[in-house]
Amino acid sequence: MKRRGFLALLVWVMFTACARPAPEQQFVIDAASALGGAKKVLAVRTLVIEGAGTHYNLGQDIVPGASGQTYAVTQYKRAVDVPGERARTELTRVPKFTYWQGLAPQRQVQGIDKAVGYNVAASGTASRIAQAAADDRRAEWLRHPITAVRAALDPATQLTNLRNEGGESIIDVRASDGRAFTLAVDASTKLPTRVSTAANNVNLGDVVISTAFADYQNIGGLQLPARLTTKTDEFTTAEVRVTTQTVDTDAGDLAAPAAVASAAVPSPQPPNVTVEEVSRGVWLLAGGSHHSALIEFSDHLMLIDAPQNDARTLAVIAKARELRPDKPLTHVVNSHHHFDHSGGIRAAVSEGLTVITHKGNAAFIDEVVKRPHTREPDALSKNPKPLKIETVEDEKVIADGTMTVNLYSIPGEHSETMLMAYLPRDRALVVIDVYEPIGTIHMFAGRFIEDLKKRNLRVERIVPLHGKIVPYGQMVKDAATSGS
Ligand SMILES: [Zn+2]
Ligand SMILES: [Zn+2]
Repeated sequence: MKRRGFLALLVWVMFTACARPAPEQQFVIDAASALGGAKKVLAVRTLVIEGAGTHYNLGQDIVPGASGQTYAVTQYKRAVDVPGERARTELTRVPKFTYWQGLAPQRQVQGIDKAVGYNVAASGTASRIAQAAADDRRAEWLRHPITAVRAALDPATQLTNLRNEGGESIIDVRASDGRAFTLAVDASTKLPTRVSTAANNVNLGDVVISTAFADYQNIGGLQLPARLTTKTDEFTTAEVRVTTQTVDTDAGDLAAPAAVASAAVPSPQPPNVTVEEVSRGVWLLAGGSHHSALIEFSDHLMLIDAPQNDARTLAVIAKARELRPDKPLTHVVNSHHHFDHSGGIRAAVSEGLTVITHKGNAAFIDEVVKRPHTREPDALSKNPKPLKIETVEDEKVIADGTMTVNLYSIPGEHSETMLMAYLPRDRALVVIDVYEPIGTIHMFAGRFIEDLKKRNLRVERIVPLHGKIVPYGQMVKDAATSGS
């Protein structure tokens, strides 16, 4: 602790001794002064921030780009060990919208200890998270005025591209360990308004994650924001309203649990694609959490859903081609826009597939296909192809001499832009997320059964893209027992 105090003072002296700091250094000195002075900023050991807020449902809302589905966040507590580069966030969030998981409160405990990221389950068991997610948390750690300005004060940090934009002064910061962020301050008060970091999002590609600061309050001579709003590009993902915050109080033990620190970083497993024949020319390609279905026509093949990411979808496409090597796989039906069910659309486009989706998803899919993925190049950025797209408004029949597939729109609480596929020959229904034969919660099954009745579909089998194939009667039973 003593040594860090000394270092902090040394940095301070170096800055103040400099008679005419460069404009970039002056920017940081001004920001530090606005927060209470560089010396005070560098002396902060812990921050404990408590409050409430809102989480949004990025990529999982009712239509693409919507932000109407929120979680009420309560019991929010973020404890930060500033010199130790550790933090732990604990919160409870309650969905304020109907959701297939139900409305039960969700407890989250998430930690970062330098490069080690971990989650703590309700059982108390901590588990290490993948490195990409841990890197995102290290970036998140910097998105606070104290940690950001502290990093910017380090003489080994590079400060570049000082500019003024719309009432803000902005500078790019690259720390000696390579972490980069952009710091914006109010042009007149010099208080930090925003810290932004660049990130990769599987669906959106290159994104900027920013946390904006407002409602500064004086806490023991330091100015600290009482409102923090985080966005991914233009989408708000989280808001925190601080009720109490303290500096240098006991933040608890923020070290990663020993079992986590010594655990190997989990690496993604190669996708497992199993093949189950539903009927002649129809297969369920399962083996993970998100399945696809494959339909054989007389001269081509069609996939239903390109889920999760490149790895999953490319493995599913390879399996489809292996099953019927003599027929081209030409189309993929996108069940709905949710990120987990559209995360492989770019991979499907890179393989030359035409996308069939609900009309309400067309602009979204177009944007997903166009967006740059330079931070982590994916299959489509390595093998660019134009988007070929067909849309469905309410119903589309795809038929030839051997196969008929009726695509229907199924608007509802889960997504307004959703399709299901009915196979009249087999009386089978390929469907996702309105009914899943897993667990005991079947939020939408009752309403969905009513929808099927209105369409006069004689469904005998449900082929779900999560879970196992079940007879129609199972859905009726589940709808009755879950009270939906
Ligand atoms: Zn969904
Ligand atoms: Zn799903």
